[in-house]
Amino acid sequence: MSARILVVDDLEANRRLLEAKLTAEYYDVLLASRGEEAVQLAKRERPDLILLDVMMPGGIDGFEACRRLKAQPETRHIPVVICTTLDDRESKVRGLQAGAEEFLTKPIDDVHLMARAKSLVGLKVVIDELRAREANGRKLGVIGEDLRPDPVEQHRLVAGNVLVVDDNATQIKRIRSALGAEHRVAVLGDEDAKAAPDLVVVSVTARSFDGFRVIARMRSGEPTRHLPILAVVDPDDRARAVRALELGAHDIIVRPIDEEEIVARARTLMRRKRYMDALRHRLDQSLELAITDQLTGLYNRRFFEAQIAPLVQRAQCGGDPVSVMLIDLDHFKRINDTLGHDAGDVVLREFTVRLASNVRPSDFACRQGGEEFVVIMPRTTGDIACLAAERLRRSICAAPFHAPGLPAPLDVTVSIGVACASADDTAETLMKRADEALYEAKRAGRNRVMGKGASQAA
Ligand code: GH3
Ligand code: MG
Ligand code: MG
Repeated sequence: MSARILVVDDLEANRRLLEAKLTAEYYDVLLASRGEEAVQLAKRERPDLILLDVMMPGGIDGFEACRRLKAQPETRHIPVVICTTLDDRESKVRGLQAGAEEFLTKPIDDVHLMARAKSLVGLKVVIDELRAREANGRKLGVIGEDLRPDPVEQHRLVAGNVLVVDDNATQIKRIRSALGAEHRVAVLGDEDAKAAPDLVVVSVTARSFDGFRVIARMRSGEPTRHLPILAVVDPDDRARAVRALELGAHDIIVRPIDEEEIVARARTLMRRKRYMDALRHRLDQSLELAITDQLTGLYNRRFFEAQIAPLVQRAQCGGDPVSVMLIDLDHFKRINDTLGHDAGDVVLREFTVRLASNVRPSDFACRQGGEEFVVIMPRTTGDIACLAAERLRRSICAAPFHAPGLPAPLDVTVSIGVACASADDTAETLMKRADEALYEAKRAGRNRVMGKGASQAA
């Protein structure tokens, strides 16, 4: 689906003109002629970009519409470009302070508008992707409360680290004086430029380095890829402004830098970065939560099931062998019954510590549930797996468990069933054999290893 742009203007002729230009660039266009209408429509339709006129008769003007769009959670992340015939400095700063991403003066320069639209829509697509994944995580129950920073929090979050890449002393001083009140400002090359930046201001008019190259490098480097970049360009140098946007700058500002303007732009860029960082962080967290067992920190059953099937399949097709060991604590119920459930949990954690120091980095140690664990051992034959299981068994019974939460040192033993995938195994048949081996180990008196490798399969 192509990106959708909402055009808001009280004059029909202006709407038609923008619609024609945008349609020619394959955007889908929605139209509104009033501020309130625009806010409602945006909430319902969730466009990818809003082009907003300022002066509209009756009701609210473009500034107020922008403020409302940025205040409601459903539309806050939609970029807004204010387009107006007002070309005074006050209006521009007001628009940016209302939260608009950009302010363009009519008659609008087509090339500039399209470069801006493309860059903002591109960013919106990334945000949408993150939001969709976050919503999914919430549906699956791996993400808890919803992501709506409270207003106080949001305000506090605006302050951050700004890195300035420039060689013009006067300009640096200006940027420092403007942004220094709210942020920590450092200049590249200075001693203090060590903190990870939240925003980078790059001059593309510098003489001693190529600002475009700096932008391109930051865009392609992994740690800097998501950093917002504000490019400083000369006035009336449209070609350079467009080039900066194309290379991945998120925003541009012209020289001489207006202090209030750069403050407003920095706030918007930083707020968006924080929002995207929060979304990414929650996704990482939710992913981890989704595959981790909460009590022990080992992988959980869900993860185990996702891993084992492809490994068995590969072994079946003549790939590397794969073995599993199924471990069950002996008479664990007694521990619970005599010492209590909490002490039982302590034993499970203590067992996990010993387990972790007995598996290789390439193994996957998972908790299947209760006091049953499974270790997947890729590229491991049954014989080697049995040796590893025997080593683990010994490390458990060799010394009693000592841990806060246990009234006295406690003797713990485990029984282990080992199985190695044979040519006609599926994950189910492999696990069934491991289970049978474990059952035999229990029946034979516990605290032992039984193997049902491919070569020993009945
Ligand atoms: P066996 O040697 O035959 O394995 O005997 P067992 O007592 O270990 O086995 P059984 O399956 O009869 O009992 C397992 C017990 O583990 C029962 C259950 O209450 C307890 N259990 C399951 N999950 C947890 C947990 O997360 N924490 C604690 N403390 N106990 C758990
Ligand atoms: Mg048990
Ligand atoms: Mg059990």
